[in-house]
Formats: sequence, structure tokens, C-alpha cells
Amino acid sequence: MKPAAFDYVVAESIDAAVAALAAADGEAKVLAGGQSLVPMLNFRLLRPSVLVDINRIPGLAFIEEEADAIIVGALTRHHRLEMSPVIALHFPVLTEAMRHLAHLAIRNRGTIGGSLSHADPAAELPMLALLLDATLHVVSANGPRVVTAQDFFIGPLTVDLAPDEIVTRIVLPKLPPATGWGFAEVARRSGDFALAAVAGTLSLRDGAIAEVRIAMTGVDETAKRASDAEMLLAGRALTPDLIAAAVASVRASVNPPSDLHASADYRRHLVGVLAGRALADAWRRARGDMP
Ligand SMILES: Cc1cc2nc3c(=O)[nH]c(=O)nc-3n(C[C@H](O)[C@H](O)[C@H](O)COP(=O)(O)OP(=O)(O)OC[C@H]3O[C@@H](n4cnc5c(N)ncnc54)[C@H](O)[C@@H]3O)c2cc1C
Repeated sequence: MKPAAFDYVVAESIDAAVAALAAADGEAKVLAGGQSLVPMLNFRLLRPSVLVDINRIPGLAFIEEEADAIIVGALTRHHRLEMSPVIALHFPVLTEAMRHLAHLAIRNRGTIGGSLSHADPAAELPMLALLLDATLHVVSANGPRVVTAQDFFIGPLTVDLAPDEIVTRIVLPKLPPATGWGFAEVARRSGDFALAAVAGTLSLRDGAIAEVRIAMTGVDETAKRASDAEMLLAGRALTPDLIAAAVASVRASVNPPSDLHASADYRRHLVGVLAGRALADAWRRARGDMP
């Protein structure tokens, strides 16, 4: 199908983009990489009266290192994140996750701001934003605001973003030194959305878990953290029994969908298996037993 007719505005600045969004009175959509928006237009799931193209706004695509955080511009393409030495150094779990996100052609166009704003319940980047305690900087004609990833994701394809707001940058606080990480995903084919995926980080103090984070995607209405399992693990050494308890907690904390690709029961089982693998890898890496 072809999209319904719309006006097309190429914004040359953030101010121009938010002015165009405000003028459209809730009827406009931001166009970033177009990898999710354009299919939705073609299927007429969305019929905006205006598309505001942000691709030519200078200074929206960047990866910058600050003392305590890495700042990523909203228009940064997935492939740039995947290839970034700064990301590989500070967030190897994010580098690994990017290799599972769609296909190279899509990663060349799709943007981090688009993926987070779209909030597909099986997407990798919302899971990574939750895992890494990201904050999103958002702007509208009324001014800027900051929202945590934890508050941003509300439901399937639903985020805390008004129709006249644009995500401009994502702040990723650095992890403690020697933090281990693990990532595990199952999709039916390479490049497909995940049936389930888990990402974890783990740091040690005196041989016990000082801090652990577990995030999941594909198994609920949004990506989410496994907070109960995190609490269970904190302060303890990782043993097979503790992994089994964490896996049970993860399975109890999700509400997976059933669809053409997999049943809810299968996804619930799968997310436990993946959480066990991600945790074991994070533990090994934190101890220096795995590259
Ligand atoms: C075949 C295929 C397979 C895919 N597989 C995966 C996968 O495995 N994992 C995965 O995570 N994704 C997958 N995707 C989606 C892809 O990652 C998209 O790039 C991403 O979801 C959206 O990014 P985009 O820049 O293309 O956003 P767009 O499509 O341009 O926009 C998406 C939505 O976000 C809004 N938006 C965009 N940027 C901003 C901004 N800065 N501020 C406010 N709102 C904004 C738009 O208005 C729109 O509502 C796949 C896509 C395709 C076509």
C-alpha cells in the first residue's frame, strides 16, 4: 500500500522542528531513519498530516565521552553505535546487542532516538536503555525536559513523549570498572525481532555481587528490568542454586505475548534460559574468566 497524503517539512534546526510539530497541533510525526515509521505509513496504521524530517539537523548524530557518561545524539544510526570504539570500551553489551538488531541495511538508517521513541516491545535498544539507566533529553517549543528510561516506556509503542516533543540526546552513565556483562537473544532468523532477549551487567566486591542489573525484551508489553531477581542476587556469590532462583524469579516477573511465532509459555521458559546464560557470562567476565 501507499501512505495517505501528508505535507513534508525538512527541519534545518531543532527549533524549526519543534515549531513545525507545535504548528501541526498533534497531527505531525517526526521522521528519523524511517525504518518503523514508513512501514506504518504504508500500512496506513498512521496517517499524520505532516512529516517533520529531522535528518538534516546538524549536531543530532554524535557519540561523545564525558567524565561520567557517554552522550549519544538521537539521530545516531544503529550501525555507528555498533562500530563505535567508545561504545565498545564502555558498553560492550550494547555493541553486542546492536549485532542482533535487524539487518545491516536497516542499521545503516535506523536511529537510537527512533528506536526508543517507537518502543517496539521486542526491540533491543529500549532494553539497553533500561539496563544502562539511560536518561533521555527531550525538547518541545515549551523548552527542554529530562526523563529516565524507567519512566519513558509506558506500553507497546507508547512512551512518555508528547506529539510536539523530540528526543535530542541519550545519556548513558558509565559503569563501575571491571563490570561484567552478558547478552543472550533468540530470534527465529538472524535480523528478526527477538522472541526473547536478556542483557545483564554485574560488578563484584569481595567476591560477591555488588551490583547487578538484568533487562529483558520480547516478554512483556515493554522492555523491562527484572528487579526482583536483581534484589535476590545482590550481595551474594553466584552459585548454580542462585542462578536457578534468579531464573525462576525472572520467569515469574514477565507477561509474554502469544503470537504466530511463539506461545507465551515458550517465551516464559526461554527468557529464563537466556537470563541464566547472561548472568553466568556477566559473572565470568566480572571475575576476568571470560573476554
Ligand atoms: C525488517 C525490519 C526488521 C527490524 N528488526 C528490528 C530488530 O530486530 N530490533 C529492533 O530493535 N528494531 C528492528 N527494526 C526497527 C528498526 O530498528 C528501526 O530503525 C527503529 O525501530 C526506528 O528507528 P528509525 O530511526 O528508523 O525511526 P523512524 O521509523 O523514523 O521513527 C519511528 C518512530 O519514532 C518517532 N521518532 C523518531 N525519531 C524521533 C525523535 N528523535 N524524537 C521523537 N520521536 C522520534 C517517529 O515519529 C516514529 O513514531 C526492524 C525494522 C525492519 C524494517
